[in-house]
Amino acid sequence: MADFDFDIGILGGGAAGLTVASGAARFGAKTLLIEKELELGGDCLHFGCVPSKTLIRTAHLYHLMKHSEKYGLPRVDLKPVDFREVTRRIRSVIRVIQEHDSRERFCSLGVRVEFGTAYFTDEHSIRLNGERFTAKKWVIATGSSPFIPPMEGIEKTPYLTNKELFFLDSLPKSMIAIGGGPVAIEMAQAFNRLGTKVTVVELGKQILGAEDKDMAEQLMNILTSEGVTFSLGSMPINTKDLGNEKEVIIKNSEGKTIPLRAETILVAVGRKANIHGLGLEDISMEIGKKGPEIDNRLRTNHKHIFVAGDATGSYQFTHAAGYEGGIVLSNAVLHLPRKADYTNMPWCTYTDPELASIGMNEKTAAASGISYTVWSEEFRTNDRSLAEGEETGKIKLLLDEREKPIGIQILGPSAGELIGEWIAVMNGHMKLSAIASAVHPYPTLGEINKKVVGSFFSGKIFSDKVKKALKFFFSLKGRACG
Ligand SMILES: Cc1cc2nc3c(=O)[nH]c(=O)nc-3n(C[C@H](O)[C@H](O)[C@H](O)COP(=O)(O)OP(=O)(O)OC[C@H]3O[C@@H](n4cnc5c(N)ncnc54)[C@H](O)[C@@H]3O)c2cc1C
Repeated sequence: MADFDFDIGILGGGAAGLTVASGAARFGAKTLLIEKELELGGDCLHFGCVPSKTLIRTAHLYHLMKHSEKYGLPRVDLKPVDFREVTRRIRSVIRVIQEHDSRERFCSLGVRVEFGTAYFTDEHSIRLNGERFTAKKWVIATGSSPFIPPMEGIEKTPYLTNKELFFLDSLPKSMIAIGGGPVAIEMAQAFNRLGTKVTVVELGKQILGAEDKDMAEQLMNILTSEGVTFSLGSMPINTKDLGNEKEVIIKNSEGKTIPLRAETILVAVGRKANIHGLGLEDISMEIGKKGPEIDNRLRTNHKHIFVAGDATGSYQFTHAAGYEGGIVLSNAVLHLPRKADYTNMPWCTYTDPELASIGMNEKTAAASGISYTVWSEEFRTNDRSLAEGEETGKIKLLLDEREKPIGIQILGPSAGELIGEWIAVMNGHMKLSAIASAVHPYPTLGEINKKVVGSFFSGKIFSDKVKKALKFFFSLKGRACG
């Protein structure tokens, strides 16, 4: 049998790679982790989740301060935002988390960490900094990069992506955000709240194309009321650098060409898997439209080479990367065949209010031809929500023919936390009665979960049939007030 330097080698030190590396080393596998950048942590820590959520928090506070009177407080005369201070805070949060994702910590777990850009020289070997490393199993966890759509002039026009956005020297006066997905929408709201005039250009007829229209529209209306401008059904066709301003010419939904101008452009239209330069063609790896072709055990056509995280080109979330890292561990290290199943993959867009989902929404249920019913409750009927001054949004519960929950969407305060109860219900294959019979503390936002289930059960409990039976057995006299 061939002798390899390592049991498992991992390319990429982000959420997926770190999950595999720490797990593999703890199980006793001789593990090599290779990261291209100078530090571990990947996009989530350095250019994604962590900086964006830190920025969102800062923007939320500034927004609350601007609206202090809504909470019965004196009006605050606020100074404009110094973005260098915002950046300083972002860097300090990254620094703290970085310690957890340090080379020293992974070394203490037993992982050999190397930095540099590696590429495959054969199916079991890679070349890194002039050295050859071999491993029995390999994992491609190289993440993704912003996809830059073809637009005339873009190569000559400076623009921002998530790589630069959080580390600007000053707050842009105005911004054209190209894209209407989660990253563009979260950032449009945050920058607008900090004082940037933001215009969102989206090709589709709604923002957040994966979500149901009613939820996305309600969110868009909130952002519009805060001052964000939207141009839906619009294709950016040309960009130009005008010096202090940049121009984006769009073709709008009526086919008219319209010039938009702003101090800066944010391109956030989606991601492409980082698989170029890895020598995958040289080892005859089959590549599909999104990334390497993989089976449901995340194996490429070379069964000992796995792909996890954004590099798969599918569910591009940190928690999906972690989940896939676990699937790889199971298959590659424990030799326990395990398939990836995305049925209960939750996600959340961290706008204010947040929009969180799990399972099917009306769009996906209709597309799969499933018959379903929808039950919903509004946050304005939730006492805690009113007390918090966060009365917009709703919860939608989708039930299948057998009255089993197949999906939940929540647009509301702390929706990303509220979806947790549904994650347990869906993964535990629990019945709705588990939520209906559970006592929820009052007053909490979580009561909305119980209430939406209650709206489904109340039709059954207070039915004419039940009322008739009670009347018959206990001689109930009926309504006391006309
Ligand atoms: C602005 C923004 C906000 C986001 N917010 C959220 C959020 O709130 N919640 C959420 O779940 N997800 C969020 N995401 C998505 C999340 O960041 C990604 O899904 C996650 O980082 C994917 O992890 P990964 O390990 O696959 O890739 P990454 O974290 O990108 O790690 C891949 C690593 O591989 C390295 N690499 C690349 N090529 C090579 C090579 N040839 N050799 C060695 N190393 C290489 C890279 O340098 C990188 O460190 C956000 C993304 C963005 C852009």
